[in-house]
Amino acid sequence: MIKQITSEVTSIEFKKFGSIVYLIRLAVNGQLSTVLIDTSSKENKEELLSELSKLNLKSEDIQTIILTHAHYDHIENTNLFPNAKIYGNFTKSINTYHSQTELRNILPIDNQPIKDFQIHKLPGHSPGDIAILYKNILFSGDIIFHSGYIGRNDFPESNLKEQQKSLQILSKLKFDTLCPGH
Ligand SMILES: [Zn+2]
Repeated sequence: MIKQITSEVTSIEFKKFGSIVYLIRLAVNGQLSTVLIDTSSKENKEELLSELSKLNLKSEDIQTIILTHAHYDHIENTNLFPNAKIYGNFTKSINTYHSQTELRNILPIDNQPIKDFQIHKLPGHSPGDIAILYKNILFSGDIIFHSGYIGRNDFPESNLKEQQKSLQILSKLKFDTLCPGH
């Protein structure tokens, strides 16, 4: 299901389990840049492609993918996008969880190219969690959800102390619109 959040931001939600995918189309140095935040689970592969085509996008059009963390329901389908550079706060070899699909090479999040994205590293739910603040919108992955719900902390890779610290930092961020991973 496609929902227009702002003139630049569109969300894609799926019938089967997997993260919400956010599409951001913004001008970078006068050029249109096409970004995805997360890519959902492999169960949603066909639906993701068909929703993107309703938005007049081919998989080749996606230039940048930012992954909020390394859980499988957020990171599968990266290999659908041959021209995308993929950024995350984790490495492919050591820190991907519960995924059986091949992940493309992950570039360090500090090198992501969109200067207007403010990246906050907020581990706890998993070691590589980030939130992305863009204008007045916070993309929070599985760190926080609507109605004050917080991310699970019962995975082997979770860390309760780090999560509490991260939630404190996050509570100081100013935003009007929350775009969580689920
Ligand atoms: Zn997660």
